[in-house]
Amino acid sequence: MRRKLVAGNWKMNGTLKANEELVAGLSAELPAGSNVDVAVFPPAIYLSQVIHALSDSHINVGAQNVCEQAGSGAFTGEVSAEMLADIGCRLVIVGHSERRAAYGDTNALVAEKVGAVLDAGLVPVLCVGETDAEREAGQAFAVIAEQLMPVLKSLSVENLRQLIIAYEPVWAIGTGKTASPAQAQEVHGFIRATVAKADEQAAQEMRLLYGGSVKAANAAELFAQPDIDGGLIGGASLDAQEFSAICRAAE
Ligand code: PEP
Repeated sequence: MRRKLVAGNWKMNGTLKANEELVAGLSAELPAGSNVDVAVFPPAIYLSQVIHALSDSHINVGAQNVCEQAGSGAFTGEVSAEMLADIGCRLVIVGHSERRAAYGDTNALVAEKVGAVLDAGLVPVLCVGETDAEREAGQAFAVIAEQLMPVLKSLSVENLRQLIIAYEPVWAIGTGKTASPAQAQEVHGFIRATVAKADEQAAQEMRLLYGGSVKAANAAELFAQPDIDGGLIGGASLDAQEFSAICRAAE
């Protein structure tokens, strides 16, 4: 039985004060003891603040991006997976569509980043998903397979079993358009079958999250699908009550 995970991607939002309030709200709304794992992904500059504020909490903290280079070195502006581990991060989002579209995160670079995250002992949340035009052209599965392949090929079975994958159709991110539960389930089934070709056990144990305009009002129906093991939540993760309601919908 896979434990559900609800993850909040704060994107480039927050201030010291707003984060303090959001974290206080989440701590009050989400007491320990639930059967759902919860994680938040603040901007890099606020990671230490949020990790410290949640140090007594069951809520995990992760980063939104990472450098593909390990350790330390002459990589101005970058943050390594080892540095993230050093300050107490547990997870890292890799290959979010906003990074793929605007910051040159190619499939090959994304695979390198996934490797760097695993080597540092952290858990990668690999994002995949097609654009509207790709779906319209009947290319959704082909695009997702291309995004998955470099990662699946580069990982040992042991590392593959640590991976989390988030299916985030680009047309549903921040648009208010959510994939229907049937549309999302179809792609999640495809992703699980693709992973199974590399390792059946990894496929059965792997958590596959859905992301794209998830709200409290549509979460339960999505999370009820057999291959949807939780959500990656953008906009709605900035509101403690809404995000907590989404977490409860996964119980
Ligand atoms: C995201 O950015 O990962 C996301 C799913 O955003 P939203 O929930 O706002 O669509």
